[in-house]
Amino acid sequence: MLTVVNPATGATVREIPEDTPETISAAFARARAAQKVWARTALADRKRRIARFRELVAAAKDDLAHTLTRETGKPIAQARNEIGGFDARLDFFLTHIDAAIADQVVLKDAAKKLEERIAHEPLGVIANISAWNYPWFVGGNVFVPALLTGNAVLYKPSEFATCTGLAIAALLREAGVPEDVFIPVVGGGVVGAALTELPLNGVFFTGSYATGARIATAVAARMVKCQLELGGKDPVYVCDDVDVAAAAAATADGAFYNAGQSCCAIERLYVHQSILPRFIDEFAKVVNAFAIGDPLDDATYIGPITRPAHITVLEHQIADAKAKGARVLCGGARIARQGSYFAPTVLVDVDHTMAVMRDETFGPIIGIMAVSDDSEAIRLMNDSTYGLTAGVYTRDGARARAILAHVNSGTAYWNCCDRVSPRLPWTGRGWSGIGSTLSVAGITAFTQPKAWHLVQS
Ligand code: NDP
Repeated sequence: MLTVVNPATGATVREIPEDTPETISAAFARARAAQKVWARTALADRKRRIARFRELVAAAKDDLAHTLTRETGKPIAQARNEIGGFDARLDFFLTHIDAAIADQVVLKDAAKKLEERIAHEPLGVIANISAWNYPWFVGGNVFVPALLTGNAVLYKPSEFATCTGLAIAALLREAGVPEDVFIPVVGGGVVGAALTELPLNGVFFTGSYATGARIATAVAARMVKCQLELGGKDPVYVCDDVDVAAAAAATADGAFYNAGQSCCAIERLYVHQSILPRFIDEFAKVVNAFAIGDPLDDATYIGPITRPAHITVLEHQIADAKAKGARVLCGGARIARQGSYFAPTVLVDVDHTMAVMRDETFGPIIGIMAVSDDSEAIRLMNDSTYGLTAGVYTRDGARARAILAHVNSGTAYWNCCDRVSPRLPWTGRGWSGIGSTLSVAGITAFTQPKAWHLVQS
């Protein structure tokens, strides 16, 4: 039995029976049969059902936000933002699916009576193993285009976002997506591992590097398509020409939104030494003013840490940094109150020998480090095994583009951060993953091309 616990109170939210290897195998067999019918269903019909799902999500937005807040501790305003943002992604997929998967004639040679054509076929049955921090976003980036392109989906929400996963399944069913075409799978890592043992046609995983590496290894010899959206250690460089207060406010939000539990949260801040003292003052003012409290309260900005066990990781990073000479400017420890709350923490005098500047933190801690010029900033930004996003704050667009062109990351931000667009590919380099979701690339990722060579005799 999976027990869902509210991290703000420690109270049990719900108990849900877990899947077993037997129920997972049976689900797979049902999905295999149902996918064949779903793939033959006209695209217009599949779109109509996903459009209905979109209406149902919009109508239930408040209830769904409460469900998400109760199981993850995400502040309610941020839960509503996520579900609102999910609507924009649905809109993108519904608008672009026809063109993205239409047959393409790439050659018509009348003399040779030859036509070359590319068609997009669904992969088949895929597993969508998802993270808890943005279940609507990271789940939807996979299951929406997967369903639209004619795949069946075995969807394993994180054990920390299972109520949301079951709500998604119920709404898809109500919208007319056959229940064997989208099947939720309930359980923790063991259940996720059992899922990867099935004869799948694709595994789409969002989560940590460590789990991603395990999944890639598990499916490699069977040649199962494997797409991974993993963690980050995302850097931002603040140049000497900025409006210091505005840059401090924007980057503090980028570091601490959702208590820093975002794959693209700012995890390292490099600030030009000439503005460092003023920047740190402004940054601390913003952080000290954050409203910390009950995530169901509309005014709350920082709620609890979703996985209480993760507090040990946060404590370790702070102890390691302090032992190596870092200074704690704000926070530095868990908050003495009910629930798994951790104070938003700002560390200065940090360097790259410290875990806090190398390992993913995935919590409300930021290290701020001085740099003397743009080339030092580029060198430090690239000194990471991860490569998800990177940002530069400066008034000078040419300078930002020149710096970011040298940074090895899937996403480049000028004067913005912690931002995702459905129109752009979401893609990591190095330990941040393999493949893309969102954009047209994030639609065709769920298809396999068939190359037609057609000669009229
Ligand atoms: P985890 O890697 O701990 O878990 C992700 C999913 O994998 C969960 O559903 C988990 O189940 C499951 N799982 C665990 N072990 C296995 C296994 N051996 N085989 C198959 N599945 C398994 O990540 P979190 O859920 O804690 O998410 C946080 C991480 O996700 C961070 O690193 C974050 O940066 C990253 N992330 C990346 C995003 C991106 O777009 N690049 C977006 C969002 C998050 P269970 O939880 O039940 O143990």
